[in-house]
Amino acid sequence: MIYKVISKKEFTGFVDALVHSNRSFGPKQVATDHRGNAVYQFQPVHSVADIAFDYSATASSAKHFFLPFREELSHFHFHGNDWEQQISYEANPVVLIGLRACDISALNILDDVLLNGHFPSPGYLARRKNSFVIGMDHLPLPDCFCKSMNHHTVTTGFNLFCSDIGDHYYLSINSSKAFNFLREFETREPNYDDNCMLVERRKLIQNGFQTDIDVTALPTILDIEFDSPVWEKWGDKCLNCGTCAMVCPSCYCYSLTESFDTNLNGASREKKLYSCNLVDFAVVAGGHNFRPKNGDRLKYRYYHQHRGFAENASQQICVGCNRCGRACLAGINPKDVINDLRMEKESCMTCVSSSPRKI
Ligand code: SF4
Ligand code: SF4
Repeated sequence: MIYKVISKKEFTGFVDALVHSNRSFGPKQVATDHRGNAVYQFQPVHSVADIAFDYSATASSAKHFFLPFREELSHFHFHGNDWEQQISYEANPVVLIGLRACDISALNILDDVLLNGHFPSPGYLARRKNSFVIGMDHLPLPDCFCKSMNHHTVTTGFNLFCSDIGDHYYLSINSSKAFNFLREFETREPNYDDNCMLVERRKLIQNGFQTDIDVTALPTILDIEFDSPVWEKWGDKCLNCGTCAMVCPSCYCYSLTESFDTNLNGASREKKLYSCNLVDFAVVAGGHNFRPKNGDRLKYRYYHQHRGFAENASQQICVGCNRCGRACLAGINPKDVINDLRMEKESCMTCVSSSPRKI
């Protein structure tokens, strides 16, 4: 990693030059919610003036630039008794501006799943390689819990990360592309004061969290609480809409469908992002549904996020952005569900005697 400091004025010129010559997306206000709060999304930007650098969080995450909601994986062409399969990937270069640390962490988790397995996803790889990611730090929102998940800072997965130190940004440069782009602009080596301001900025962020979730030994608690009434309690509220997985930066489950062209000369195989909360997610051939109850489906999502992945990849998949909690019309959020499970376990600790003493 190389560190530089750039004035905010110079940085504005840098971003302007980038967005003028590249397909770029940044946070923009797109609506106002029922409480009067601004709703932001990553949108196409054509000049630095289009970008809301002071945004809070986007309603949808940046994962959709890498995992589109719908994509054709292959097309089949039939010729007489034969057929051929055509596979093509489209990955146009893209500049993404203003991603938060937890959003970049979520991309690192997706990298783990989609690139580091036995069968890396070529489409995802092409999109990831053709992106230029600029991260920006921010003060936590009241309901963010990314510090609890240890994703309030990030050291990989971006080209450039900007920490706000007053009139300047403290830049963490993580790619030769970013280094070379920046050579055209005036930057300097960080001095003692810049380093102090960076440490102060990090402390301010660290101490700004108002939401904390105790995730200590959560995979074990989930094992113990497999039959907990907590799942039914929250499951009964769930509308099975799948919104939580759609807005989540690290959910990647999908469905595959195959359909014939109307002229019957070909067929296509299509991938669509899906959610384990949807009623038919666990339906198999013959019509049996392995998870017919709301509570079972909700539980499955929490097990994938906080237990299964933790066992396989030594980390929980949730980065603590609380997009799912904000978007859920039924008022279901990770903090309340996980706290309920913890209380369930702790109430059971009060009614059993302590471990027997060795005689
Ligand atoms: S957003 Fe809420 S209601 Fe919709 S599936 Fe997720 S938990 Fe259920
Ligand atoms: S808080 Fe919700 S949306 Fe954010 S990473 Fe965790 S599960 Fe996904």
